[in-house]
Amino acid sequence: MTPARDDRDLTLEVSRALEACGVSQEALSGSRGVTTPVTGEQILSVEPHTVDEVRDVIDRAEHAFRVWREVPGPARGAVVKRWGELLSEHKSDLATIVRAEAGKIVSEAEGEVQEMIDICDFALGQSRMLYGKTMPSERAGHRLMETWHPLGVVGVITAFNFPVAPYAWNTALAIVAGDPVIWKPSEVGVLCALATDALLGRAAAECGAPEGLHHVVIGDREAAQPLLEDQRVALVSATGSTRMGRDVAPKVAARFGRYLLELGGNNAAVVTPSADLDLALKGIAFAAAGTAGQRCTTMRRLIVHESVADDLVERLRRAYETLAIGDPGDEGVLVGPLINRQSYESMQAALERSRMDGGTIVTGGQRVLADEFPDAYYVEPAIVRMPQQTEVVREETFAPILYVMTYQDLDEAISLHNEVPQGLSSAIFTSDQAEAEIFLSARGSDCGIANVNIGTSGAEIGGAFGGEKDTGGGRESGSDAWKIYMRRATNTINYSGKLPLAQGVEFI
Ligand code: NAD
Repeated sequence: MTPARDDRDLTLEVSRALEACGVSQEALSGSRGVTTPVTGEQILSVEPHTVDEVRDVIDRAEHAFRVWREVPGPARGAVVKRWGELLSEHKSDLATIVRAEAGKIVSEAEGEVQEMIDICDFALGQSRMLYGKTMPSERAGHRLMETWHPLGVVGVITAFNFPVAPYAWNTALAIVAGDPVIWKPSEVGVLCALATDALLGRAAAECGAPEGLHHVVIGDREAAQPLLEDQRVALVSATGSTRMGRDVAPKVAARFGRYLLELGGNNAAVVTPSADLDLALKGIAFAAAGTAGQRCTTMRRLIVHESVADDLVERLRRAYETLAIGDPGDEGVLVGPLINRQSYESMQAALERSRMDGGTIVTGGQRVLADEFPDAYYVEPAIVRMPQQTEVVREETFAPILYVMTYQDLDEAISLHNEVPQGLSSAIFTSDQAEAEIFLSARGSDCGIANVNIGTSGAEIGGAFGGEKDTGGGRESGSDAWKIYMRRATNTINYSGKLPLAQGVEFI
């Protein structure tokens, strides 16, 4: 339970939560202020790392790797088991910090921490299932098999809007895979990072893991450069904008390092004439307006059959006008603040461009609560009807704008759907099985995530998460995403006492 607004002191709440998670006072003083999007005010401060300090961290992680790679997988799993227990114990502390730093409402902040707990469970099971295959050899008296070994140091770069879950998706799997992790969180997610790291530190120490298994590097993109350039960082997993990915990928590729990119989305839902509109309404409203439109999987485009468009848009308009906007700690609030002024200005610029392209704003777009929070940016989520999918619709504006377009036949809807640079998440609302199957088929959605009768956001950790095209092509979290944190060796063992060569080759 969050205290009533009048009794609330965000600095105090966050300081208590940080202390409960085990963050030292020492870590909470420095030259860089930490502001909260809830009020726009500074709540605490931290000290950024220098590039030399980051290099030193890579040395320590590399040393830890030499020890950790020899610990058996199931024993490595004990660390994530304990981390998951500590995250459960401190769920509300960590959620308080997520709410303050990212501006998420209580249930979404707690939901994000729950994803961390879930991936710890998943990774614990995976620690006993780092399987390789045994293949039939073409030669008698030979065994052909593959083994999976720890890869090396993993660098994780994360975005402001999911300050903790994507770190845990990477780190829980990397740790069971045998890899130390160095985390460069968003500039506006450092308190979340310090708290998460403190809990992992406790788990690692209690399980006797080597010093240097996990690190947090505080700073902006400069602090991330050594991770991109140093040969010893075997994998860089980076979550953020497509612009960031375009800079990160060539630097890591230039040294033949591995990278896993989770970049911007421009997610759409197709609503067909047979859709259950009550269900669609709920799925669309949460995916488009939830988290104030600041999820990578936020629904930004709605492609609706012309026969149901007016009805659906009218229902959405009415639903949007009931959304409670405000301090994310207040009970009943569903839409918190944008992260900062720049985000607000991008939203206004996109709305202006959409108007110039012939769009009509059906509802929303206005700043609210400016008297109460002059330095914070709360907005009404917007719905804009567009005559076509113009350039502004094809871009990701990281704010709550839902562009609505109409279609006549499903092929046209799928073309519109796929005609954007990004390829993260997608959905179709329909009661027609053939339409659903077509949408999920090779000629349907080109995204990494394609859903039926559910919105574009709110993925579960059991599936692989990620997307195609400008979204970067990476997959993390569930399914077989663990493999990217390991290296595969193919082994041939000859127990025949002879030396037959493969493919029937004869030699000496
Ligand atoms: P951002 O790209 O500004 O920053 C993300 C992280 O990358 C930060 O830690 C930042 O310091 C770092 N960074 C930025 N440029 C860098 C560079 N050139 N070299 C090294 N590091 C660099 O993104 P943001 O504003 O924090 O987050 C919003 C964006 O992230 C949106 O585009 C959103 O769609 C995307 N996102 C994607 C996913 C996903 O899983 N696909 C998840 C969350 C957010």
